[in-house]
Amino acid sequence: MKFKDYPISKLLVEQLDVLGYKKPTDIQFKAIKPILEGEDVMAVAQTGTGKTAAFVIPVLDKILKEKEKGRKGIQCLVMVPTRELAKQIASVFRDIGAKTKVKTFGLFGGVEQEQQIRTLENGIDVLVTTPGRMFDLISQGFIDVSSAKFLVLDEADLMLDLGFNKDIQDIIFRLPKNRQTLFFTATIDKKIKSLAYKIVRDAIRIQISPKNPVSKNIDHAVAFVEMDDKRFFLENLIKEYPDFQFIVFARTKVRVERVVEAMKRVGVSSEALHGSVEQKDRFAILDRFRNGENKVLITTDVACRGIDIPTVDYVVNYDVPDNPENYVHRCGRTGRGNKHGQAISFCSPEEKVLIEAIEAYTGDEIEQYTLTLEEYKQILADSEDVTYNWQKLIDQSNKEFGKENEW
Ligand code: AMP
Repeated sequence: MKFKDYPISKLLVEQLDVLGYKKPTDIQFKAIKPILEGEDVMAVAQTGTGKTAAFVIPVLDKILKEKEKGRKGIQCLVMVPTRELAKQIASVFRDIGAKTKVKTFGLFGGVEQEQQIRTLENGIDVLVTTPGRMFDLISQGFIDVSSAKFLVLDEADLMLDLGFNKDIQDIIFRLPKNRQTLFFTATIDKKIKSLAYKIVRDAIRIQISPKNPVSKNIDHAVAFVEMDDKRFFLENLIKEYPDFQFIVFARTKVRVERVVEAMKRVGVSSEALHGSVEQKDRFAILDRFRNGENKVLITTDVACRGIDIPTVDYVVNYDVPDNPENYVHRCGRTGRGNKHGQAISFCSPEEKVLIEAIEAYTGDEIEQYTLTLEEYKQILADSEDVTYNWQKLIDQSNKEFGKENEW
């Protein structure tokens, strides 16, 4: 099946070709047709599978047809848990709809309202938003969703984790009853199911790779490394692949900053992204990473979902995540769409239990990357971080000692 075989606007088919989308991914194959036919959809799909385009393509097509009939007002409301995701999904709508006149707006808090209000007043077709700012502007009378024929909830599981359950219920009352609801979640449990069944009607259920949620495009392995040696292994890996783009996940903001410093000491430039970085700086950091100005992004789980940068070659779990779901999301930052990616986790002895929990969650053993003692020592010895590299200091002082004793 190719995109041109779908009964969708030529403007979309041509643009998909420009974007290099040759054939639908699994989730697109399963979701596009029912959405075009007006069905509600509930999809459990991991990140990186092409799930955004799975709803963007049919929604855009339907909006185009509605616009031809002269319909006005917000036609589609997409609710997402984070600002990064709002920005990103809005850009997918704009990219795929580039040849159309459909207007998409990504709305989120943390920035001035004036400009946002002006954009809303000029009229938009698709609103992609986080709940906070949307309710704020609804209460001020700048947003009216009563004309929206589509509700998309993306990353619904994270919406629940972040406490947006009530917001979701509240927005339902403002939307028309005869809408189409598309519900996307990366994971499924009782709470998600109960939320889904409250808002979708006779939904088509789609589940992608239920067995092992780490995409099959990603080779992922674990290397056993002492906690204090992790930085040498990271340095070694980055220097081995100087042209690669890396996302490195550490457990806390403080650790992120420390890893950035450690990399600086050995001549590896990188940037930190975490919850204490201001919103505007976050976007700038992501832009620099996206356009390849920066090749190493060191971050906390704030970036483990939603970020879609197709050029990421390698994910490094500098610290093993303590939530197995986040392992799946972190790995999903590489191997996007039909591409191939690699991920490695540096696991210290105390983190072995976390690896076991991940294996229980994914139902699969993670491949072990084994190193001989010699190889391990060599990685430490190769480090350019002389201040911390005791092996190198010992070697150097041995050499100097040797020299001093030369006559
Ligand atoms: P998502 O799971 O929506 O975050 O998408 C993951 C990545 O897959 C994005 O970089 C998309 O641009 C890419 N993608 C989506 N659909 C296709 C397709 N049919 N062919 C190739 N790449 C795609």
